[in-house]
Amino acid sequence: MIIKPKVRGFICTTAHPEGCKALVRSQIEYVKAQKHSAKGPKKVLVIGASMGYGLASRISAAYSYGAATVGVIFDRAASGSRTATSGWYNTAAFEQIASEDGLYAKTINGDAYSKEIKDKTIELIKKDLGKVDCIVYSLAAPRRTTADGTVYTSVLKTVGDSYTNKTINLKDKTVSDITVEPASEEEIAATVKVMGGEDWKDWIDALVEAGAVEDDAVTVAYSYIGPDITHPMYADGSIGKAKDHLFATAKEITAQGRVKAYISVNKALVTQSSAAIPIVPLYISILYKVMKEKGVHEGCIEQMCRMFNEKLYADVPVTDSECRIRMDDLEMGEEIQSEVHKLWTEIATDNLSTHADLEGYNEDFYKLFGFGAEGVDYEADTDQGTKIPSIEE
Ligand code: NAD
Repeated sequence: MIIKPKVRGFICTTAHPEGCKALVRSQIEYVKAQKHSAKGPKKVLVIGASMGYGLASRISAAYSYGAATVGVIFDRAASGSRTATSGWYNTAAFEQIASEDGLYAKTINGDAYSKEIKDKTIELIKKDLGKVDCIVYSLAAPRRTTADGTVYTSVLKTVGDSYTNKTINLKDKTVSDITVEPASEEEIAATVKVMGGEDWKDWIDALVEAGAVEDDAVTVAYSYIGPDITHPMYADGSIGKAKDHLFATAKEITAQGRVKAYISVNKALVTQSSAAIPIVPLYISILYKVMKEKGVHEGCIEQMCRMFNEKLYADVPVTDSECRIRMDDLEMGEEIQSEVHKLWTEIATDNLSTHADLEGYNEDFYKLFGFGAEGVDYEADTDQGTKIPSIEE
């Protein structure tokens, strides 16, 4: 069938298999062309491997070091005239290309929060790889169901007071004020339950208990800090509380003495998750403009390739004084932030095109779903029923 984007709010309900494949291939080509650190992981588990930072981590590990990768994803195959999710197509493309290149890549599809999926993943690791030496935790989820059946839903709200600032309506390209209301205590606790470190630690404990981690294994989870304008929404908001918990969990995991845990503070980028945060997309489109003009813009693949090769697997891991890897080093640079701040104070509907990179934002948004890739014929009849080689349907 001919597949066109169908955007509903922050997501696109269709995805293009050939577009996703072309974009995965271009991420692979990027990594292959970089210089790689002498040290590197050989057997990597990526939890949340189908999109954004997790997918870029999987590609970086595989194509920097020839690492075998096991990915855990939560995606949907095509059914009837409904396309699969883009995470499904990305994973299918990654596995196909990796296998052509002689690299081990298998995937488990299901809820990473569940014991069933942890058990299945560990069984696969033990059978095929024995142990892993690197575990990437890159989940971004709206909800989590715990073993007793309770469903926790995360919220993107402030903590304490409400916060009013500018936001962008991407549909009609207008800037207006938005007031974000504070989360209740219950909502904050639920957000910590979903996006905090509890499940990360459950994964590490389960892997260690099963004897599925190498002695020198490391694990990394991702966070964001950002500038003042986003703090009430992010670092000091409900999601920030979850990230504080994630950070505390890194210390707990390391203190157990088996696996060294890191937090990598990444750059703000357009992903399916960040598109849903109020205020942040306007900040991202200004940031894109400034960083592109200064020639320092990076996407997920540039960030993750640099993280593996220049930070996590440098001779000695490169961290700040609090043991965090700072991939937001360029974003948070003084020159970038003062320019972003100036544009932020001035931005309004009538100067959007000069003050923000809306085109770049939109382009990245459509690419999340495989649309807008170079060399793909979007008018061609396309088979949407792509299979992930390692997954039986
Ligand atoms: P994303 O939406 O692109 O990817 C999230 C991944 O998690 C997807 O592969 C999705 O399928 C998977 N997933 C979600 N629920 C799952 C479940 N129950 N079981 C298995 N897999 C599941 O998000 P992202 O932006 O790449 O976020 C990844 C991490 O990076 C998050 O911790 C996020 O907070 C962090 N981060 C993001 C940004 C940003 O600007 N996007 C910046 C810094 C840090």
